[in-house]
Amino acid sequence: MARFDVVIVGGGIIGLAAAREILTRQPGTSLAVVDKEPTIGEHQTGHNSGVIHSGIYYAPGSLKARLCTAGARLMYEFCESHGVKADSCGKLIVATAEDELPALDDLHRRGTANGVPGLEMIGPAGIAEREPHCTGIRAIWSPVTGIVDFSQVALAIAGDVAQLGGVILTGHPVTGLTVRTGSIAVVTSRGELTATRVLTCAGLSSDRVARLSGAPAEPRIVPFRGDYWQLRPERRHLAQNLIYPVPDPKFPFLGVHFTRRIADGAVWLGPNAVLAFAREGYRRWDVRPGDLARTLGYPGSGAWRASTGAPGWPRCTATFPSGPLSRPASVSSLSLRPPTSSPGRRGCGPNRSPTMASWWTTSASTSRAGSSCTSATRPRPPRRLAWRSPR
Ligand SMILES: Cc1cc2nc3c(=O)[nH]c(=O)nc-3n(C[C@H](O)[C@H](O)[C@H](O)COP(=O)(O)OP(=O)(O)OC[C@H]3O[C@@H](n4cnc5c(N)ncnc54)[C@H](O)[C@@H]3O)c2cc1C
Repeated sequence: MARFDVVIVGGGIIGLAAAREILTRQPGTSLAVVDKEPTIGEHQTGHNSGVIHSGIYYAPGSLKARLCTAGARLMYEFCESHGVKADSCGKLIVATAEDELPALDDLHRRGTANGVPGLEMIGPAGIAEREPHCTGIRAIWSPVTGIVDFSQVALAIAGDVAQLGGVILTGHPVTGLTVRTGSIAVVTSRGELTATRVLTCAGLSSDRVARLSGAPAEPRIVPFRGDYWQLRPERRHLAQNLIYPVPDPKFPFLGVHFTRRIADGAVWLGPNAVLAFAREGYRRWDVRPGDLARTLGYPGSGAWRASTGAPGWPRCTATFPSGPLSRPASVSSLSLRPPTSSPGRRGCGPNRSPTMASWWTTSASTSRAGSSCTSATRPRPPRRLAWRSPR
């Protein structure tokens, strides 16, 4: 039975970063990171929008605001020192209607109070200068928001962990945590580890792993899946970098946005948020009856729905092949002008749509995404997403 000072459950970016920090602060600590999957970063860490957020959205003075602002700076420094490609390409949050302006002003106030560097409020000309195919009446320009591949970041962090003497054990699902006198037994499907301290960073399974250690059943994770579309390669120029709508404060989502992917220059459009029928089920038809029954039977799901009028529930069906994925209101608040227009094909189609998943608790978010490609029916154009394909 292997013995460690610290065992971390979960080899996503959080577990790995925690391991690196512990080993940096306390050199010589014997530490293991255990993950159930065959490789690290298989869930949320490997399936997200790949955006380095600058800290605009969070309430001034909150921990999230401080961590996000400082974290963005540290992320760029880490990428620089570890040879991970990151691009501080900047981001626009665009208002296209007068009634969005108070929320946009509020975001600007928040971002400024949070110390986000270089924030600017710009008008239509400034929008056109940065995103020639985007129109809006006003926008926030955040020059330090950027893009990165968080899988690459996780790999680089794992490299540091190994160099600092940590052990990473993949393919080790943790099935039990038993507190004994002076130690904790971490039971995995491949044997038992003993640790003086255990830190759990299990992402989508955090509630389940917490329960293994005797924690209460609440809060519980309610799974949501987010789907992304991508622009066809010949239309990638329509969105140069990052274009976001003004978010609806009722939801813990930033709204469907355009994101340039750093790995291949693809432009993704998403995510939406629909109730998922399986945890870690990234395809539309992934269903685990046990997961679904637990979600539907959980009073917190209904409470969240009631408090938000959550469109996620009706969207369970809206994203299936016959429904337009890009219907969410947040997408339709962006208006893209085509460089040329012609009748016929749509500019935004699911030639291949990576599918992502996210899981939100009723109060806060935790999540993860997997990626698969579907080639469904051609979508109807989103309302007011006015473009047509160039010939
Ligand atoms: C759709 C979407 C888009 C996002 N976009 C962005 C973005 O643009 N920018 C940004 O900063 N953040 C974004 N996020 C959030 C970000 O991806 C997450 O906050 C982050 O990846 C969380 O990392 P984690 O390590 O906590 O979780 P995960 O990466 O999910 O890692 C948890 C790990 O725990 C392991 N595990 C679980 N149970 C067990 C068990 N019993 N035994 C052993 N191992 C176990 C899992 O295998 C997994 O590897 C997005 C999230 C989603 C869902």
